[in-house]
Amino acid sequence: MESALDWHAARAALDWQLEMGVSEALCEAPLDRFALEDAAKAERLAPRRGGAVAAPVAEPEADPVAEAEAAAAAAVDLPSLEAALAGYDHCELKRGARSLVFSDGVAAARVMFVGEAPGRDEDLQGKPFVGRAGQLLDRMLAAVGLSRAESVYITNVLPWRPPQNRDPKPDEIAMMLPFLKKHIALVDPDLLVIVGNISAQALLGRRGITRLRGTWQEAEGRPALPMVHPAYLLRNPGFKREAWNDMLELKVKLRSLG
Ligand code: URA
Repeated sequence: MESALDWHAARAALDWQLEMGVSEALCEAPLDRFALEDAAKAERLAPRRGGAVAAPVAEPEADPVAEAEAAAAAAVDLPSLEAALAGYDHCELKRGARSLVFSDGVAAARVMFVGEAPGRDEDLQGKPFVGRAGQLLDRMLAAVGLSRAESVYITNVLPWRPPQNRDPKPDEIAMMLPFLKKHIALVDPDLLVIVGNISAQALLGRRGITRLRGTWQEAEGRPALPMVHPAYLLRNPGFKREAWNDMLELKVKLRSLG
């Protein structure tokens, strides 16, 4: 291609481009992309034949809850529900978490525990309730002859760890709720155990777990027993007595249902 530049000016221009980080030539002649953008904008705003101005095309806003509902509704089993969660991109928490913490335990269990959200250990291992609170939960289960290896299924309201273990925001709970509801429907347990305030908020629409605990409620069409979170028990060991009573209550209810 003919150039108006002499050799030295062309060489200096090339050196400058290399310094700026240019590593590849894409076309023969320079292309001013800013000018292209301006032209496209002018074209969009120009009056159409007949005098009407083209209306700017508004991108439809995504509705995270509606999209969660559609994704959860399409899941036919637990693996497809987990895959639907993995493919769901509207929850900010996903970007800061290492793992999607879906569940642990026996999918055919009669009892399903619903915790709040993964902490650091859960995020590292990809399983719910594996840190100190989880170990206490395992001891409480063992005290009434239950275990995640044989008789209990465990999940959380949120599958991703919130940064610094902060409380989940209402919009984060709202967009995870369709997945949680579908999770419960697919496992179809006889009884739910609602662990902690966040879970009570999500499944019962109420907080105040220390008042709610030990009183049978209904959630997702089945009996649900709220209990205080084992992390709370680690900080307030004086409350363990009540928590143990709640485990006994659970055992009695399971027996009564046969
Ligand atoms: N707390 C929860 O609520 N869930 C976990 O998985 C761990 C800690």
